[in-house]
Amino acid sequence: MTSTDPNIDTEFLRQKYREERDKRLRTDANDQYLEIVGDFAEYADDPYVEATEREPIFDEVTVAFVGGGFAGLTTGARLVEAGIDVRIIEKGGDVGGTWYWNRYPGAQCDTASMVYMPLLEETGHMPTEKYAKGAEILEHSQRIATHYGLYNNALLSTEVTGAEWDDDTSRWIIRTNRGDEIRAKFLSIGTGPLHRPKLPGIPGVGSFKGHTFHTSRWDYEYTGGDSKGALMTGLADKRVGIIGTGATSVQAVPHLSKACQELFVFQRTPSSIDIRNNHAIDPEWFATLEEGWQQKWLENFTILQTLGFAEEDYVKDGWTDITKRIVARLLADPEPDLSPTGRLAAYYATDDEKMTEIRARVDEIVKDEATAEALKPWYRQLCKRPCFHDDYLDAYNNPSTHLIDTDGKGVERIDETGVWVGDTHYELDCLIYASGFEVGTSFQRRWGFEPIGRDGVGLYDKWDEGMISLHGTHVHGFPNLFIVGPYQAAALISNVPHNLVERGRTLAAVVSHAEAVGAEQVEPTIEAETAWIELLEGGERRFGNDADCTPGYYNNEGALFDAAAIRNSLGYPEGAVAYFSYIEEWRTSGDFKGLEFR
Ligand code: NDP
Repeated sequence: MTSTDPNIDTEFLRQKYREERDKRLRTDANDQYLEIVGDFAEYADDPYVEATEREPIFDEVTVAFVGGGFAGLTTGARLVEAGIDVRIIEKGGDVGGTWYWNRYPGAQCDTASMVYMPLLEETGHMPTEKYAKGAEILEHSQRIATHYGLYNNALLSTEVTGAEWDDDTSRWIIRTNRGDEIRAKFLSIGTGPLHRPKLPGIPGVGSFKGHTFHTSRWDYEYTGGDSKGALMTGLADKRVGIIGTGATSVQAVPHLSKACQELFVFQRTPSSIDIRNNHAIDPEWFATLEEGWQQKWLENFTILQTLGFAEEDYVKDGWTDITKRIVARLLADPEPDLSPTGRLAAYYATDDEKMTEIRARVDEIVKDEATAEALKPWYRQLCKRPCFHDDYLDAYNNPSTHLIDTDGKGVERIDETGVWVGDTHYELDCLIYASGFEVGTSFQRRWGFEPIGRDGVGLYDKWDEGMISLHGTHVHGFPNLFIVGPYQAAALISNVPHNLVERGRTLAAVVSHAEAVGAEQVEPTIEAETAWIELLEGGERRFGNDADCTPGYYNNEGALFDAAAIRNSLGYPEGAVAYFSYIEEWRTSGDFKGLEFR
């Protein structure tokens, strides 16, 4: 199936996409990035809260949760509702996770607040905008923690350094960088897939003598302004460079453009910038929503996002637009080919149209022709994280904002005074790294500690050939351990909080059952775990990894996932909607099939 639009030359697009991808392929793939340790460790320091001295804690809790982001908050909320005590242990100075760290100007959710912000009904909060700003989402995280009393027992500015299962007492022993030794009946880990910032391994990266920071540690003391969008007056006399043009940079650049004396945006691959159409939420309309609305909205968004059929589209945005178009295309055929191949063909044809529109939008907005040409993405929309913004492209019409396109090669060298691209040196006062986060590196690197299970077996030894779990949650050999994340479960990436809200309900049910029957240990049988992995591996659902795509973290920078990484990214074969209904049935049936309660 190809596009019916006579202006779209499918062959040309395929060829152009291949050429642009090939330009960017490199042999070092993920290794091109630097881990933020050693000389670079300060890039990860917490700029927002200074950790205060405190005495180490030696005590016992029922559930210890590593991570105070949406995973810890939503699970914590459900556990508290079930009357279970939970302690969040969080390395940041407050809860909020990604919204604690990412306070760069312009930070905003890209999935509609109505489905992205969890527990809105429970906490009585109305999002102010269709896409809420980061500061509001951070405040909402704090609201959840306050509402459920999660602060009372939390340990903030505290990093877990070790967790070991003691089979004799059926307790996890958790150690932290504050000297704490906490015993927990249950240990849950939800540290998020994108929480360790990384730097590009550009020669000379450490040599720049001006001011520098990573976008996830924004230095408002230097830039002035604030995370709510106040003008960054500290940059009025500064030449600022930003490396990277992913989703973060796309949101920050319009604000930098207004503030800097000169802004240089160093681009290797342009992002796709679709329409944003943000607007305030009308309190009168919001008041008409009936009890239980958020669950209905979550389900509706997920159905539409996964090529399902729904009579109405509540969210109506760029995410649902493309999937609705694919479905419409399929249904336009009196005998639709609903096989995976048929769906893929419909997706390609729809995507060709969508990306043609996205490129045309660049021409409509950006006045300088060469700049417009360089800002056009030549790949399928879902090869990289799609972006949605109404001011980003227009920022390049500002004469003090310069797109420095590197034709896929990237910045070549950094020295004491600035950045080299080709033969040109760009002298800078400040260099900002919008270079993203570790994805696909080892669990040890991303989690920072390794849970040690029964008989001293390390989790990462067990996962040597990739993650192994029941439902993405329970691991044989690691009693009373729960993982909270999207993979080996719904794997719904367009709205990660939906995965977490569901997991919170499931964990509260499992822990409540264990407490009710007096079980000291909860563990999946090896048979159940093996069967789950076989089920997932027998299906087609996994995240990203498309060889035709331009390099990025969606396909391991073009090197593609190895067998272990494929395992780590598996999803339920019948899709997210089917997974959510399966797991609801599983947790409410009372059998908890596959788990042993001892
Ligand atoms: P990304 O990993 O998406 O972007 C990193 C950027 O650095 C890319 O543009 C990359 O180019 C560029 N880069 C790397 N090396 C060089 C080099 N040598 N020279 C020039 N450029 C270079 O990081 P982000 O922080 O933007 O986003 C990470 C993820 O965080 C997103 O994908 C999204 O999932 C999430 N996010 C979500 C938001 C939201 O929901 N509102 C907002 C922001 C982020 P190249 O593309 O060529 O690799």
